[in-house]
Amino acid sequence: MGKIQELSERLANQIAAGEVVERPASVVKELVENAIDAGSSQIDILVEEAGLKKIQVTDNGEGIAEDDVENAFKRHATSKIHSRDDLFRIRTLGFRGEALPSIASVSYVTVETAVQGMKQGSLLRLEGGKVIEHTPAPLRQGTKIIVENLFFNTPARLKYIKTLQTELSNIGDIVNRLALSHPNIAFRLVHDGNKMLTTAGNGDLKQTIAGIFGVQTAKKLLAIEAKDLDFTVTGYISLPEVTRASRNYISTIINGRYIKNFALNKAIITGYGSKLMVGRFPIAVLEITMDPLLVDVNVHPTKQEVRLSKEPELTKLISKTINERLRLENLIPDAGENL
Ligand code: ADP
Ligand code: MG
Repeated sequence: MGKIQELSERLANQIAAGEVVERPASVVKELVENAIDAGSSQIDILVEEAGLKKIQVTDNGEGIAEDDVENAFKRHATSKIHSRDDLFRIRTLGFRGEALPSIASVSYVTVETAVQGMKQGSLLRLEGGKVIEHTPAPLRQGTKIIVENLFFNTPARLKYIKTLQTELSNIGDIVNRLALSHPNIAFRLVHDGNKMLTTAGNGDLKQTIAGIFGVQTAKKLLAIEAKDLDFTVTGYISLPEVTRASRNYISTIINGRYIKNFALNKAIITGYGSKLMVGRFPIAVLEITMDPLLVDVNVHPTKQEVRLSKEPELTKLISKTINERLRLENLIPDAGENL
């Protein structure tokens, strides 16, 4: 027999987990994104010890059918895309079918889920990716997933975890962004019994921003709106005097997905011209809508980095719109052709 062998599914999942499940916040991100994709209007997130002890996400979405629930934990198993063509018109946050098997391979997972109209729901429990219980459960609306003892079998990863405070602030940050990208969903985040965030879920972005950054901050925002052939940009930016010491308060959302893109952040800052002090950054939440064909989300397993086909056109539109909006308020001189 040759010396090259295929890895077992469990080992392959653990290796993939290295990329997908970097830290507790990654688990929160993946579980909440699944809840969003399931069409939920209410998502409750409960964490203990910054997620290392327990992460529980409860949604009121479409649920998982009895005969699908074990498949959801198989590698590359997804209900979200079926063909190569689907890959070029992705409208869901997930599509790689990697998150659940990866998470399950490095933790203890319990799932309670039900689909409306079925006779009963199901309960599934896994330890390190191995199914240890699969039984019928009462009907409920949606899905509850509990992840416990994260990284119990990957000591190196556990060592790499920073302080609980850092991990918790990462969780807060990711939930903020997910909530900002979905003003129509009511989010609740509770850590060790303390409420960290609630949003109304009434579809109003400004109210969602108020829930996250505070009512006083939300009062000092300007609405932004722009449209050209390829893009629609809406959202809010802060007055130039309302700044923060980090870029963390800038959120760019493309087709409902919060993304990290240096060029877009820079375009926002450029729009302010010389109005920002060195080392100070605005608060901004921009929702960008475009044909999914123009954005490749299949660049990195976490899907936060994307490749944009018409990036120069989009950055120009953003800078110009922000600059004009601030000029309208008589806040900055005309940047003219310098943009
Ligand atoms: P992906 O999201 O890329 O499809 P995941 O591993 O995250 O892969 O999830 C696998 C599948 O499990 C999903 O395609 C979906 O069908 C199902 N699923 C996961 N979480 C939920 C949920 N909260 N509600 C309904 N279905 C879910
Ligand atoms: Mg997913």
